[in-house]
Amino acid sequence: MSFFSTRGENCVTASQAILQGIAPDGGLYVPAMFPPVSLSKISEMADMDYISRAVNVLKLFLEDFTIPEIEEAVKAAYGGDRFNDPAVAPLKKLDGNTWVMELFHGPTLAFKDMALQLLPHLIRMSARKNHEDREICILVATSGDTGKAALEGFRDVEGTSCITFYPLDGVSDVQRLQMVTTGGDNTRVIAVRGNFDDAQTGVKELFGSADFAEKMAAKGKILSSANSINLGRLVPQVVYYFSAYADLIRQGEIVVGDPVNFCVPTGNFGDILAGYYARCMGLPVNQLICASNRNNVLTDFFNTGIYSTHRTFFKTLSPSMDILVSSNLERLLYEAADRNGDLIRVWMKQLKESGSYSVGEQRRDWLADIFRGDYADNKDTVAEIKRRYMHDGYLMDPHTAVAGHVLRRFREDTNDATPTVIVGTASPYKFAADVLAAIGGEQTDDPFTASEQLEKLTGIPMPEQVRRLKELPVRHTAVCDRDKMAEAILEG
Ligand SMILES: *Cc1c(COP(=O)(O)O)cnc(C)c1O
Repeated sequence: MSFFSTRGENCVTASQAILQGIAPDGGLYVPAMFPPVSLSKISEMADMDYISRAVNVLKLFLEDFTIPEIEEAVKAAYGGDRFNDPAVAPLKKLDGNTWVMELFHGPTLAFKDMALQLLPHLIRMSARKNHEDREICILVATSGDTGKAALEGFRDVEGTSCITFYPLDGVSDVQRLQMVTTGGDNTRVIAVRGNFDDAQTGVKELFGSADFAEKMAAKGKILSSANSINLGRLVPQVVYYFSAYADLIRQGEIVVGDPVNFCVPTGNFGDILAGYYARCMGLPVNQLICASNRNNVLTDFFNTGIYSTHRTFFKTLSPSMDILVSSNLERLLYEAADRNGDLIRVWMKQLKESGSYSVGEQRRDWLADIFRGDYADNKDTVAEIKRRYMHDGYLMDPHTAVAGHVLRRFREDTNDATPTVIVGTASPYKFAADVLAAIGGEQTDDPFTASEQLEKLTGIPMPEQVRRLKELPVRHTAVCDRDKMAEAILEG
């Protein structure tokens, strides 16, 4: 299997795409085709554990990796006790035709672990395959969860280092504490004065700068990305869509071939895009429901076909979705444009120069057959957390609750009764203060008090990671301006 850039003809192997992160022309790597998975193969997955499901899906994309290599990487990522649920991505029933797939049982309590526990092993192996023996320096821009997940994934992985930038005022207390207490000799964490898009744009510019690459090369380092644009982030995420479907079969809720919807809390469009890839490979997915918070640029895009960043940026209760430029959308656009890289270049140029582009009505209609966009504001989110807790005894984090609310409205609008899986992206304990207030507990800004109260009130055990956080020393205190990120790296 080869991979193309969304903006040109560049053609590479899986390991090369993973090493490079972003294509030289600024595009994102996409598979040359979607490898088909038959319904009988999907049936077989019902009896497999998560590790076997992952090997079966990943081998279709990672063709220049051997099966033993893929097995080794997958076991290192999901085996042992790295995830605090043996199912890795357990499926919980909420009501008659609604489930939550919990993707937050990894070391950082959010769905980014699903990919970022695996990626370092894929990068390490990719370097070996391509005779790359320089240090691979991972640059990350984070809205909160990616940063910590990358730091945890890469810490003390030989031949790599990891530098994470986060927006100074754009992450929760727990998210910040998680990052600045990271151990490991090869990790650095730097706060940027600005919002997530500032941090992300800054990192993108570094990746595009020949001058910066030269300076890093002089230090024996080569840059790579662990952001969700890296192909090595995307393919591990395809796995859990198959896994959820296989679990529904195993639990006797559907028979193979039955359509299922997924409702996905969305920011950078990586998670839901993986669902689209699974659908292209033959997974019987009917609708992919794209749930946004008040930064609802994607809702407007799916409704109008116009992507416009001319809007106010809001800080919300779901900070990991506070994003105006969803990088991974480019991969969907590539499919909507019949894989015409020239068209993508034009749209991305318009986006850069004027802040918007339009895909036209026909393409919008094509997208609307598959995707449905809607959003929840903070009030909707709080109400959803409360309602799910009161009615179903299920405690949602604010990101997952955004999806819960959007699904509720989708069903009211359409009377759609298709079995639907809400993708649960964070543990409620990661946003304990807001979750506690939503279910009527006391108001407190202290995340630790909130976690203790939440445990007392709900009886849902606090994860070890939260309990431990209080005692860990702060190791990273650097802060820099948006236009001084290169200096911060080179001088640090
Ligand atoms: C990253 C993240 C999201 C959004 O996922 P994308 O792939 O960026 O769309 C949603 N919820 C949580 C908790 C996240 O960390």
